[in-house]
Amino acid sequence: MVVNVVINGYGTIGKRIADAILKQPDMKLVGVSKTKPDFSALIAYRQGLRIYTLPDKVNAFEEAGISVAGTIEEMIDSADIVIDATPKGYGAKYKELYDKKGVKAIFQGGEKGSLVEVSFSALCNYDKALGKRFVRVVSCNTTALCRIICALKNSFGVKKVRATIIRRGADPHEIKKGPIEALVPNPVRLPSHHGPDVKTVIPDVDIVTTAVIAPTSRMHMHVLNVELEKDVTVNDVVSVLEDTPRIILLSESNGFNSTAAFIEWARDIGRKRYDIYEVPVYKESITIVNGNELWLMYGVHQEAIVVPENIDAIRAMFEIERDGFKSINKTDNSLGILKRWPE
Ligand code: NAD
Repeated sequence: MVVNVVINGYGTIGKRIADAILKQPDMKLVGVSKTKPDFSALIAYRQGLRIYTLPDKVNAFEEAGISVAGTIEEMIDSADIVIDATPKGYGAKYKELYDKKGVKAIFQGGEKGSLVEVSFSALCNYDKALGKRFVRVVSCNTTALCRIICALKNSFGVKKVRATIIRRGADPHEIKKGPIEALVPNPVRLPSHHGPDVKTVIPDVDIVTTAVIAPTSRMHMHVLNVELEKDVTVNDVVSVLEDTPRIILLSESNGFNSTAAFIEWARDIGRKRYDIYEVPVYKESITIVNGNELWLMYGVHQEAIVVPENIDAIRAMFEIERDGFKSINKTDNSLGILKRWPE
């Protein structure tokens, strides 16, 4: 079976998912939507992607030398599934149209959990998305938290999670966001929304999160404290995280001492747009206190981390692959996701 996929919203997340779809033998990228005929639209068009837009924007695209394949509505008519990667809140407005057109849809983390049947994170609840029509891939921060928590939960049991999230102020291309010089509690009144968002995927977890927005654009960073059900050693945790897909342990002895180092590494190994799909964990940060209290720190590349989960969600919703780990394997191989470095 080959699933016909369209991307509504070819922005930060949408363009990366489009590239990933092109690498899947069981999926076909039918088209992408753009609302402005900017350089991204022109590059996509020159790459051979079919570009769709809003009815009142067609002329602007044609004037910019981009021949439009049709309107967004027409694009949806030719799809089995829409990946909605429009800005936060727009997905909720588009849902009615997707419903009317009888297509399936995947929404992103900016939308509310109540919009969909399942909030999805492949390592935690792949099975729940089997055959579903409307699924939400949770946000970048929630995806990272879910991957780590589910890995620990499955091996040791998790009593409670407390996390501090240092959020990037803006994506690199965003020039109107900040702060430029401040650390901003987000929010001042605890907790942050991330804990409740994790619970949309792992309902029974005891989690409280706080967040601070920092003047950086490359990555988020998490400081995680987890009380496990049993006593463990650092080596126990290292071996579980090493064996979990989409988590990679990177060592200070190889120069991994900051989010800047993670990004430089991604550039050096030739990742397009320096995308890091894995959760890069600072290996030496893994610390055990009092037998069962784990601390660790890791980075989250907000622009890329949710891409593999979108691919798996498609396979689950069309039941192309009923076994989550088989889908994860296919996706990870196609995207060159690493288990270890150096290998
Ligand atoms: P973005 O602003 O980079 O891209 C959104 C795209 O949608 C743009 O190309 C924009 O032109 C287009 N668009 C705007 N109005 C539209 C309309 N009416 N119809 C169709 N397309 C329209 O946004 P993004 O950062 O890619 O975020 C998309 C979703 O992914 C949001 O839900 C966001 O919360 C979520 N998300 C973002 C990040 C991140 O760090 N950027 C990480 C994880 C999840």
